Amino acid sequence: MKIKVLTIAEDILGANEEKARRNQERLDKHAVLAVNVMSSPGAGKTSLILQTINGLKQKARIGVVEGDVASTLDASKVQAQGAPVIQINIPGGCHLDANMMEKALNNLPLGEIDLLLIENVGNLICPAEFALGEHKRVMLLSLPEGDDKPYKYPLMFAEADAVLINKIDLLPYLGFNIPAFNRAAVGLNPRAKIFQVSCKTGEGLEDWFSWLLAEIGEMKRAGKSHI
Ligand code: MG
Repeated sequence: MKIKVLTIAEDILGANEEKARRNQERLDKHAVLAVNVMSSPGAGKTSLILQTINGLKQKARIGVVEGDVASTLDASKVQAQGAPVIQINIPGGCHLDANMMEKALNNLPLGEIDLLLIENVGNLICPAEFALGEHKRVMLLSLPEGDDKPYKYPLMFAEADAVLINKIDLLPYLGFNIPAFNRAAVGLNPRAKIFQVSCKTGEGLEDWFSWLLAEIGEMKRAGKSHI
């Protein structure tokens, strides 16, 4: 099946926060948990999404929004796993916003999705500033990037509900100081849950899956209480 591509120019204005709130209401109505996955390029967002689709395929129906400056490379990988996916291409852009998210929601079967994973554009700055209507924000950092990133990009860490340290299988080869990183991340944001994972070997992913399933459960219970 051909992948649907939405190309969105930068002429879209509007109150982002208000639109994000409406997006979230729409997601709530369908009891869809939306998770905004943010990281620098190459940290492993797509690998995490593919592992999550595979790991939760018996337990949750997953849809995906792929944000990229160009190409459908990541969306093709997601589609090959059988998940509904919308690619948003943003020529010259560096983040997704609530207008783009609304267009993605218009093109997804929300009644058939429990968990919507949003792969934001690879960038540690702008994505943290634009709400999409997501319920949870996830910051993914890979070991080769270094343990000083919380000090350099504080907003990204301060706003995260979960921080995943990816490529943990490389720990023996790199000078990444896990306790120092944890101290810095917790100092910015004591409520964030920190996971150590390898999307290559699968190490640590069960804890991440359990966290997601608990959040999906919360969403379903909240949805029932509204009826
Ligand atoms: Mg990717």
